[in-house]
Amino acid sequence: NALNYQSKTILSKRQMKDAENYLPGGVTANIKYFAPYPIVMKKGKGAWLTDVDGNSYVDYLMGYGALALGHGHSRMNDAITEQLNQDGTHLFGTPHLKEVEFAKKIQQYYPSIKKLRYTNSGTEATQLAIRIAKVFTKKKKIAKFEGHYHGGFKEVLYSINPPLTEAGAIDRPIAVPESAGVEVDGLEPFILPFNDVEGVEKIISQSHQEIAAVLIEPVQAGFILAEQAFMDKLRELTLKYGIILIFDEIKTGFRIALGGAQELYRIDPDITTLGKIIGGGFPIGLVGGREDIMEVSSPKRGFDVFEAGVDGKETAKDVLFHSGTYNGHPTILAAGLATIQELEVSFPQIVNYTMELRKRIEEVGLKSGIPIRTYGAGTVFNVVWNEEKKLRHYRDLLQSNTMKRKELDFELLQLGVYTKPLNRYSISAAHGDKELDHTISAYENVCYCFKEGSG
Ligand code: PMP
Repeated sequence: NALNYQSKTILSKRQMKDAENYLPGGVTANIKYFAPYPIVMKKGKGAWLTDVDGNSYVDYLMGYGALALGHGHSRMNDAITEQLNQDGTHLFGTPHLKEVEFAKKIQQYYPSIKKLRYTNSGTEATQLAIRIAKVFTKKKKIAKFEGHYHGGFKEVLYSINPPLTEAGAIDRPIAVPESAGVEVDGLEPFILPFNDVEGVEKIISQSHQEIAAVLIEPVQAGFILAEQAFMDKLRELTLKYGIILIFDEIKTGFRIALGGAQELYRIDPDITTLGKIIGGGFPIGLVGGREDIMEVSSPKRGFDVFEAGVDGKETAKDVLFHSGTYNGHPTILAAGLATIQELEVSFPQIVNYTMELRKRIEEVGLKSGIPIRTYGAGTVFNVVWNEEKKLRHYRDLLQSNTMKRKELDFELLQLGVYTKPLNRYSISAAHGDKELDHTISAYENVCYCFKEGSG
């Protein structure tokens, strides 16, 4: 079947060979790579992707969840065109009207966000959130959960995918570096066990004097849900010990619900990070939260009006410096605003598609005797091949059969259903009956073949 894959993707293979001459590993982000070589896409339209060999696929990767409306939605295209034609691309790096208009829209769905700052990616957002928390609490370290991803920088590149042999006890995980150049050097984060109230309580109560912030994906990787009691306890503990609770909602924002995981769990974090969907497919990130916390980055602090900027005194030393040439980019905010406005109309329909798709995938699994189940919420889920109906954290996921899931993914790829092997499914407003039928018939084909193969 690897041979089938290669015979359908000859031009992808050739293109990737050429790409290797110019890009390390042929890719511009490590996550884009998979063996034997990734498919090179040429075009996206609505819910469909077309690759360089001319194969088409229903797209469930959706730009790693960033595309809530599908590829090239007219409402978003119109918004960008209008911005470019009427007001200009970049507005010379000055304050502009969309920065506040967009902030008000965010606050409507994320009332815990009283003040916010824009960044250019999710990675930058979590980085800034951590920096703000450290300045505010005057503490030096953070805590994050095993299996949770927060971007590509040293402070958080620990214990995302650790091998069990190195990961420590289940209720007291050890920080395992995830990248070259990342070490256990005393500044590594505390690693917390997800969905484990006692484990978390023990670590936090012992080390709270060092912990500025707890950073969490409230729905791990967009599909492993935190339990309500666990989230309530985490909020209680962080308040008790003066620790900033940061919800990384870059994946879950406008997906789990319009108001993200904080709407689902009815919890106000101190800081929230958002990204992906809010940029309508363009690079963006955002950090927002409690007013007193966010104000650490205000350049007005410590100065009288007009004093700032005089004699080179642009900011006081105790102000957290945050800047960026492209922050609050008007074209991107226009794309994001149009996306959110369209989602206000179409979100329930996307949730319905998602629920129907999950139900029918599970039905195929049941009927064919293949142990696949779906996990997730809102418009995002994943398919897990596991015999046991239990998925509460990273170590449960390790017990599932990822080899089989990968095989399933490669078969589905060849039948025109795309997600990167092992990746979750993100649904968009462009997915409809045609895509649902196409997907389910591919699942039926593959699952019944698997069954025969194993029997
Ligand atoms: N946090 C989470 C939860 C994410 O899912 C991601 C991206 N997958 C990031 C942070 C990093 O965002 P970006 O890729 O935009 O830097």
